[in-house]
Amino acid sequence: MTTITFWAGLNTIGGNIVEIATEQVRLFTDFGTTMGVKDHTLRPLNNAYEEQILHHALPPIPGVFKGSKPEVIALERFEQKDDRPIIVFISHLHLDHVGALPFITPEAQIYALEETVDLYNTLVKEGLEVSYGASFIPVQSGETKQFGDLKVTMHVSDHDTIGAGAIFVEAPDVRVIHSGDLRLTGHHPERVAEWAKKAREFEPDFFLIEGTMYSFDLDPTRVGIKTEEELREVMRKELAEANDKHQMMFINTYPRNPERLKLFQEVTSEQGRTLVLPASYRNVLKAFFPLSAEKTVVTSEEQIQLMHQEPEKYTWLVRFQTDDIAGFEPGTPYVHSNGEPLGAYDPRYQVLVDELESKQYRWVSGGVSGHGLPEELLQVLEWAQPKMVIPWHSFRPEVMQASFEQAGYRVARPVAQMPYHAKAWLDYLESDRTRG
Ligand SMILES: [Zn+2]
Ligand SMILES: [Zn+2]
Repeated sequence: MTTITFWAGLNTIGGNIVEIATEQVRLFTDFGTTMGVKDHTLRPLNNAYEEQILHHALPPIPGVFKGSKPEVIALERFEQKDDRPIIVFISHLHLDHVGALPFITPEAQIYALEETVDLYNTLVKEGLEVSYGASFIPVQSGETKQFGDLKVTMHVSDHDTIGAGAIFVEAPDVRVIHSGDLRLTGHHPERVAEWAKKAREFEPDFFLIEGTMYSFDLDPTRVGIKTEEELREVMRKELAEANDKHQMMFINTYPRNPERLKLFQEVTSEQGRTLVLPASYRNVLKAFFPLSAEKTVVTSEEQIQLMHQEPEKYTWLVRFQTDDIAGFEPGTPYVHSNGEPLGAYDPRYQVLVDELESKQYRWVSGGVSGHGLPEELLQVLEWAQPKMVIPWHSFRPEVMQASFEQAGYRVARPVAQMPYHAKAWLDYLESDRTRG
């Protein structure tokens, strides 16, 4: 009998961990954290995970964490491991999906799409990500892996990081799909359409779909830039204007998105400029798009002097509080494109806003979301036609439920941290519906 346990992620954007277990194997799809895990790389304690559980950053999953017995909390048999292998599939390399990996037992086998593995290895090598102390095993999109009586297949998707995928799980008595994070407004909407149509053939019993964008009351007039291609257009205009004024342009974006780095390189070169970026960022770009990286130069003392002499020749990809961006002319545009600090919830964001104001630089919003709007998610459901939808990865699953039910889908809202007998639960949900 297959059980499914929603350890975390049912009513938050983060901490995504679902366990699908049979008598032969325990499978986890994603292994993220709900909130900032503190000092996990610095703590020498074997049972550092206990502290994270005590602070609600990790759910109390028995038998998967490394280290000694918990000392403060009395979780009976918490440490008892059984013989079943622990398999983890990672949908993509964002902390809300991988943040708990530093705590996992070294016996766990961690799988992800090849590009995610390449990205992880590159970021660690470049000092842009800490090592999780775990090694990833790459899988190809569409390749099915068998673990005992479970089969798992990942299909490449589209999100604001490279290597994102959806996870299809086939157990003897139930089929489950985990959508991962997705959008139809990125560089590869066809990938989402393709796996969602495969999902229809797969006939999933349970379809977990992310609902980040259902978390907020969206004001359509304030959504900003909707697609990556719109961002390219905005950049074209901004660069042309900066060219006319002989101004420098600053960009702040994060290195987990090599395709965004490539976009900035392309549009910069097209406007007769050179993209200047930190060596580590350039190496990330080089790992995925070597021809694009060749057209960029690395930030250095000499290069900064050159930029002060001829600002109109460059676009400078800057890091908050690392690069000294003083001394350029008032009105110089600064494009904030999903860089650190990401948004107003981070106290450093106001520090950034104040710093730019004091220098009289001009703020340009250049962010594009990695998450689909409600209409995009409804489109995915229409393609996939799942039996039962489970709202997931959202602060407002109840709003998702209402929206999906209104569109004619059956929706289940599980209780967290409780093992469900998947098939019996499905039968119950279906009979409950028939009773009306
Ligand atoms: Zn994500
Ligand atoms: Zn996410």
